[in-house]
Amino acid sequence: LAKTVEDDLYKQAYTKDSQRIMIHLNAGLSADTSIAVNKGVDGVGLYRTEVPFLLQRSFPSEDEQINQYRSILQTYPEQTVVMRTLDIGGDKPLPYLTIEEDNPFLGWRGIRFTLDHPEIFLIQVRAMLRASIGLNNMDILLPMISGIAELDEAKSLVERAYQEVANEYDGELRKPRLGIMIEVPSMLYQLHALVDKVDFISVGSNDLTQYLLAVDRNNSRVASVYDALHPAVLNALKHIIDSAERYQLPVCVCGELAGDPIGAILLVGMGYRSLSMNTRNVAKIKYILRHVSANDMAQLADDVLAAHLSAEVRDKTTLFVEHHG
Ligand code: PEP
Ligand code: MG
Repeated sequence: LAKTVEDDLYKQAYTKDSQRIMIHLNAGLSADTSIAVNKGVDGVGLYRTEVPFLLQRSFPSEDEQINQYRSILQTYPEQTVVMRTLDIGGDKPLPYLTIEEDNPFLGWRGIRFTLDHPEIFLIQVRAMLRASIGLNNMDILLPMISGIAELDEAKSLVERAYQEVANEYDGELRKPRLGIMIEVPSMLYQLHALVDKVDFISVGSNDLTQYLLAVDRNNSRVASVYDALHPAVLNALKHIIDSAERYQLPVCVCGELAGDPIGAILLVGMGYRSLSMNTRNVAKIKYILRHVSANDMAQLADDVLAAHLSAEVRDKTTLFVEHHG
């Protein structure tokens, strides 16, 4: 089995009935730029730029950031790297920036922080754009968007950074595609408003679960309440894929659920065709998908979406996996 799983690592992902599933990597550490992991994946679905920020003693300069970003972009010259703008705060405080709040997860994090510090945001987006010159394989992703006004404000800053870098550069600067994370539940009711504003969306099931269930994703006392297989979470995910199809918005899931066997089966069953996961899960998920048909997964998803309890979801999906060997 180990050998088969390893073989699968280098192949593109298909379901048993030949549906192509795009498998992307979640990255953030420079270790992820190693050649060994980049074979057989369809690019980087989520590059968490806060990781290089966390490893520094102070805010990295534009040139320092360019070096970081360029090394990941160079690792995937033929594919796309989705670079997320800084998502600090919440569970990711920067050692050189003290933010004291009663409710950090509901506070100054992600896009909220960078919109209040446009100088930090502009330097970062400039660094991303400059790093991508000549490679042209970068998309930009905005974290923690909770409404359209934030998106408009962030877009105008991205546009400003683009104009600045384009003016400084002699050649033609490719405009990156722009997307947002769907991870704050309010956005479930604003998907129609995204149609002319973004090129793609990426579902952050980690935060979406946390905010839908009002449960801290890192608090062990309430760990049993944090359940991405809660029927409400699954129905939210179904609503997102149905809306994305209706509005023709390209969509990927980059939360942990995408790299979990039960999660991946249910997501593909709901209709998702693009998953982004940690390196260690790639071979396992490809192996599982190869042995199950998308049709069967769709039937399972229909069945499970009607469940009232997470336990039912888990039992039904586990039985399904056993049945499909
Ligand atoms: C998520 O929230 O699901 C996500 C992918 O982002 P992060 O885990 O970095 O918050
Ligand atoms: Mg998140």
